[in-house]
Amino acid sequence: METPFKTTLTNNSRLADIDFNNLGFGDDFCDHMFSMEYAGGKWHTHQIMPYQPITLAPGCLTLHYGQTVFEGLKAFRGVDGRFRVFRPDMNAKRLHESCLRLCMPTIDDDVFMNAIEQLVQVDHAWVPEERGQAFYIRPLLFATEPHLNVRAATEYRFLMMTAPVCEYFSRQVGGVKLKAEDKYTRAAPGGMGYAKTAGNYAASLRPGKESMDDGFDQILWLDGHEHKFVEEVGQMNIFFKIAGKVLTPPLKGTILPGVTRNSVLALLKDKGVDVEERPIHIEEVLNASDNHTLEEVFGAGTAAVIAPVKSITYGDRIANAKVEGDDLFSGWLYKTILDIQTGASEDTYGWNMTVDVSGTESKSLAG
Ligand SMILES: *Cc1c(COP(=O)(O)O)cnc(C)c1O
Repeated sequence: METPFKTTLTNNSRLADIDFNNLGFGDDFCDHMFSMEYAGGKWHTHQIMPYQPITLAPGCLTLHYGQTVFEGLKAFRGVDGRFRVFRPDMNAKRLHESCLRLCMPTIDDDVFMNAIEQLVQVDHAWVPEERGQAFYIRPLLFATEPHLNVRAATEYRFLMMTAPVCEYFSRQVGGVKLKAEDKYTRAAPGGMGYAKTAGNYAASLRPGKESMDDGFDQILWLDGHEHKFVEEVGQMNIFFKIAGKVLTPPLKGTILPGVTRNSVLALLKDKGVDVEERPIHIEEVLNASDNHTLEEVFGAGTAAVIAPVKSITYGDRIANAKVEGDDLFSGWLYKTILDIQTGASEDTYGWNMTVDVSGTESKSLAG
């Protein structure tokens, strides 16, 4: 481990109040967070401190013009009692790209990885043991400089908070119902679709509400130009199995390059499955459903891991897919990824960062 960051421990741990049999997704945050600030062209005041409210100038640029980026990844307490973080290097890389898109200062991979490691250590007692639960890590970077000009800020804050979570859809029985969105757009070529930035999610709230009012679980976004080509779901990338072949849209700047997407592609290719990253017309999916070659649809993202999709509605047409059965890739992928994350199977890809928490007992029991 690198030099530990200055650490201030809480003397008021909330751990005893958490009902681990009833976890939501962000109902509670863990005791500590990582924090650092940026001014004068460099990051300073790196520290781990109690999770607590922060002070912001009302004029700070992030509140007015949305200069905010974030990440999301998970740590696990394995079947062998060891602690593992799934592919944090990928999140560091994606955060870097998001920062560049929004003219924000980037963060050293070392600092990013050390912050994760030390947060897992300090709050390791919060890492759930139950299969399917996880210790969610949320890095967040935003502009703090107060100003009214529309321009990139000169001052920023980076926080990394953590939370014990259940799965996002709690393995929604019967699969997810998607509405292929033919009116609203999530991202357009040249936009910010590939960046994990707050504005993309704010823009999705109204379409999301309308689709939920109509009885759907999530939106399947189509391209911003013609609303014909499949893009992704709210917080997941999308996969189709048509006539034995697995299809997913290519990374062309309008969709998030998911870490789970990348993992799914690697696992399927190594299993010898025919996989194609290419544009997918919504008609191709609907027609495949009509002629019974649509074998499976699933979403892939950190929060849900793998979420089987039951149906996709596009105007007055509907595509149906199987969500249960031993032959489905969705079930196999879910199990395979979780087994790697929890140490139940060998990490042949070297995806996990293991965290040694020995000697950090006192910190987690503080208070
Ligand atoms: C985070 C996210 C994903 C999934 O990315 P992972 O790295 O697999 O969690 C997909 N789409 C959107 C819009 C996202 O925000």
